[in-house]
Amino acid sequence: MDRKAPEQDEPLFVTRPQLPPLEEVMPYLEEIWRTHQLTNKGPFHEQLEAALCDYLGVEHISLFANGTLGLVTAMQALRLTGEVITTPYSFVATANALLWNDLTPVFVDVDPVTLNLDPAQVEAAITPKTSAILPVHVYGQPADVEGLQHIADLYGLRLIYDAAHCFGVEDEGGSILRHGDMSILSFHATKVFNTFEGGAIVSPDAKTKQRVDYLKNFGFANETTVVAAGINAKMNEFQAAIGLAQLQHIDEAIARRARLDDIYREALADVKGIRCPPVSRAARYNHAYFPIFVEDDYPLSRDELYFRLRENGIYGRRYFYPLIPEFPMYGNLPGIENRDWPIAHAASERVICLPMYPDLTDEQARRIAMVCAEPGGSA
Ligand SMILES: *Cc1c(COP(=O)(O)O)cnc(C)c1O
Repeated sequence: MDRKAPEQDEPLFVTRPQLPPLEEVMPYLEEIWRTHQLTNKGPFHEQLEAALCDYLGVEHISLFANGTLGLVTAMQALRLTGEVITTPYSFVATANALLWNDLTPVFVDVDPVTLNLDPAQVEAAITPKTSAILPVHVYGQPADVEGLQHIADLYGLRLIYDAAHCFGVEDEGGSILRHGDMSILSFHATKVFNTFEGGAIVSPDAKTKQRVDYLKNFGFANETTVVAAGINAKMNEFQAAIGLAQLQHIDEAIARRARLDDIYREALADVKGIRCPPVSRAARYNHAYFPIFVEDDYPLSRDELYFRLRENGIYGRRYFYPLIPEFPMYGNLPGIENRDWPIAHAASERVICLPMYPDLTDEQARRIAMVCAEPGGSA
């Protein structure tokens, strides 16, 4: 692997978006310039849908311009109404997509180990207005898919997964994306698999995919028929071409992430007050993030460590802080003042996601761990 030697003063961000080799992208660009097919179900769009079905082990994928439009469209496709139970511990797009559909997010607390929605808390929050559950597989760690499906079936609710973090994650039965009524992926630059911007909906059957495909293209069912007030959320040929080139390198990229995960775990194992994330129970994990939890017996507070890392050129991120319902604009939701999320809140005050991306060298990962282990030392 042609990884250049790390430079000591090169800033290390939480992620460094992956790019395929330029020479592997050029033939795609030449083809686009030759055919002038830029968007609207072009050949690369169709190829990427097929290639992703194959790679991810699912049958029905619809590509999107980005993941947020995928979330918004999924809620339209399932005709959700009223209240949707979701997690406070996620990126704000999860809940914003509900507001764009005039749905009321009902935030409930998470499981202390996985930080994913806790089915018991979900059940306790169901009202006659509830139409769906919207869990997130946080950090790519599978949510309790069986527990959540059980609740959804019992109460006749839809189950939509924000799967933005879990490209390539599998459980014993195959892709984690096969669960629920739909799963939404993000191919944003910062994600494990990127098309610069992009996303996808995984549908359970061809009929659902067809409805999603209409909705992402203004609601057109054919040249002269519009069947719904659709939006424009199509992925273009440039994005699809990037995706096809990226896919050639994804296994290597995930293997590299796994190696860095091992290095962090080993280097931080005996550091008092730093807790590493639980080892994934997934049959195949993607190592999307490496969140550490700064406990009370660590010599610094979470924020002190966060800024100490920055002084050392290491730009971790406090994902997810603050909690979504702690953003001031979410404070206006009816009934929100009667809710609290002690487990999610505690996690949001303890977490720092360390740099995690395939270009990070072993040496850089060890240096980052060293700053965490000896925050007073000169790393
Ligand atoms: C990245 C992300 C999104 C949004 O995806 P975009 O492709 O950036 O629109 C939604 N939910 C979660 C949990 C994310 O991490």
